[in-house]
Amino acid sequence: MLEDKERTELSDLGEFGLIDRIAKSVEITQKSTVKGIGDDAAVIGIGKQKMLVSTDLLLEGIHFDLSYVPLKHLGYKAVAVNLSDIYAMNGKPTQITVSIGLSSRFPLEAIDELYTGILLACDKYDVDLVGGDTTSSVSGLTISVTAIGEANEDHIVYRNGAKETDLICVSGDLGAAYLGLQLLEREKEIFKDNPAIQPDLTGHDYVLERQLKPEPRADIIDILKLEKVVPTSMIDVSDGLSSDLMHICTQSGVGCRIYIEKLPIDHTTALAAEELNLDTTVCALNGGEDYELLFTVDLKDYDRLKDNPAIRVIGHITDKGDGYNLVSHDQIIPLTAQGWKHLE
Ligand code: ADP
Ligand code: MG
Repeated sequence: MLEDKERTELSDLGEFGLIDRIAKSVEITQKSTVKGIGDDAAVIGIGKQKMLVSTDLLLEGIHFDLSYVPLKHLGYKAVAVNLSDIYAMNGKPTQITVSIGLSSRFPLEAIDELYTGILLACDKYDVDLVGGDTTSSVSGLTISVTAIGEANEDHIVYRNGAKETDLICVSGDLGAAYLGLQLLEREKEIFKDNPAIQPDLTGHDYVLERQLKPEPRADIIDILKLEKVVPTSMIDVSDGLSSDLMHICTQSGVGCRIYIEKLPIDHTTALAAEELNLDTTVCALNGGEDYELLFTVDLKDYDRLKDNPAIRVIGHITDKGDGYNLVSHDQIIPLTAQGWKHLE
């Protein structure tokens, strides 16, 4: 089809480059489109109350592996990660739609399992499943979830509001989901070589749960509301702390400085990293799929959040010219979107 034309590999552009390109070709014409492409969710509406919309597409073999992910967990996670994008705008999710592409490999019982997980997440986070689409696929399973939410205009938090001296905060802890995935991959390889060997995942409940059944941080949105703190910027950590912090910084036109000893890491994450011969800090910075909230707050809000065990201040926003930096003991190391190469 495109043989005779110039050909650019998508891998040269990368996911973010491709999205940027699509974004540049889109012209917003509707008054009700407050925010289009470029944040965790789009913002739509006239008047103060806005609607938030976010979509994710999950493909078997790319985003999940059914050899170790139970369908019920998959359904739960597909919803959870979408709701996370609504929370990342400081909004409240209200509805979802779910579209699935199915090959004949899947019996009704499999779909029942998937929807048990989907509905469990809907119930837990108090959202309605209001529609979707069902189609057959040549092979494998495809799931697309769209989450709809609401927020008052004055409370919506974008990626682009961080300013110099703001504190950088993150909820929960980092790196566990990535280590959960590495353990599951390891056991899969062992099983492939010798099916008689039983998986050895004892002692790794936490990291496995973080990978298989992530919980979006609705509780953090409640805390912020209770403490009357509106972050200056926010994103959920889906790609990894480094990469997601850089989204905040590039969109806000600022730099950052985070401190290695402040990174929140669960001790079972560190144990798993040791067992797998991985550097815990690298996992926390680049692991991804944590679905924690990363946000910046004005200095004046520090007192309201500082004693909350669910939130950790990991650094501060600097001038753009200072770049993106990680302070490790007496060293300052530049952060990169791909991660922190110096430790590898
Ligand atoms: P997240 O990691 O929070 O899900 P993404 O990196 O997937 O965010 O998307 C960033 C932004 O780009 C969002 O506004 C999203 O709606 C938009 N986007 C992603 N893919 C496309 C696409 N194919 N067409 C239009 N917009 C897209
Ligand atoms: Mg997001």
